Amino acid sequence: MPSLELNDVGKAYGAVPVLDGVSLAMEGREFVAFLGPSGSGKSTLLRIIAGLETADRGEVWLEGRRIDMLPPGERGVAMVFQHYALYPHMTVFENMAFGLRNAGVLREEIAARVGEAARVLEIESQLEKKPGQLSGGQRQRVAIGRAIVKQPRLFLLDEPLSNLDAALRMRTRVELAQLRQRVDAAVIMVTHDQAEAMTLADRIVVMADRRIQQVGTPMDIYARPANSFVARFVGSPA
Ligand code: ADP
Ligand code: MG
Repeated sequence: MPSLELNDVGKAYGAVPVLDGVSLAMEGREFVAFLGPSGSGKSTLLRIIAGLETADRGEVWLEGRRIDMLPPGERGVAMVFQHYALYPHMTVFENMAFGLRNAGVLREEIAARVGEAARVLEIESQLEKKPGQLSGGQRQRVAIGRAIVKQPRLFLLDEPLSNLDAALRMRTRVELAQLRQRVDAAVIMVTHDQAEAMTLADRIVVMADRRIQQVGTPMDIYARPANSFVARFVGSPA
């Protein structure tokens, strides 16, 4: 079964069009990277998929279920933001448990899910600390942990590594690849870092001018860019 399907999604802010006819079909458990210049509508598209924003037209389907009419909490989607705002007064455990408590998940189930996510992310020893006591990389993992405990069918990562320094980015990139093996879900990651997209993604979606310019494997995109924009953007020789 296809994972995410976007059919002709369109969005304008007032008179300013932001997305114009975006369609995409993801395979099950695929890792797709969205690459494109700033302002090309990547974050808006993720927010539409997550239900934080409504599209003007089009449909969003996840595993055969139309989700664009559903409230965010019922979509099977979890988003990790670029500026992962953790609650500073809460412990790591409480930060990860917060969304589940609100959703009425039972106490024992919350403890089990947070424990498992902390194990996968190797932050078990940080659970009683406050975010202010953590490194940037650890805080970033807590933000990912908050998404994992929701057990989504689709993760939306909006430039999750952009706040990290180069060395940490590299290490976290490797960790994301490993994490991907352990979670049974599809992933969309927005990035403006081509190397990140090329190394992590099964397929890359290049966005510009409110539209998808090309969808393909990293090799396709690099070796056979669909137009001169893509060629310039990924720096391929064509
Ligand atoms: P990207 O994530 O690719 O940088 P965005 O989706 O954030 O692009 O933004 C796409 C365009 O929509 C930009 O021109 C941005 O200024 C505009 N935009 C984004 N959010 C809003 C909003 N809430 N109100 C008005 N304009 C917005
Ligand atoms: Mg953005």
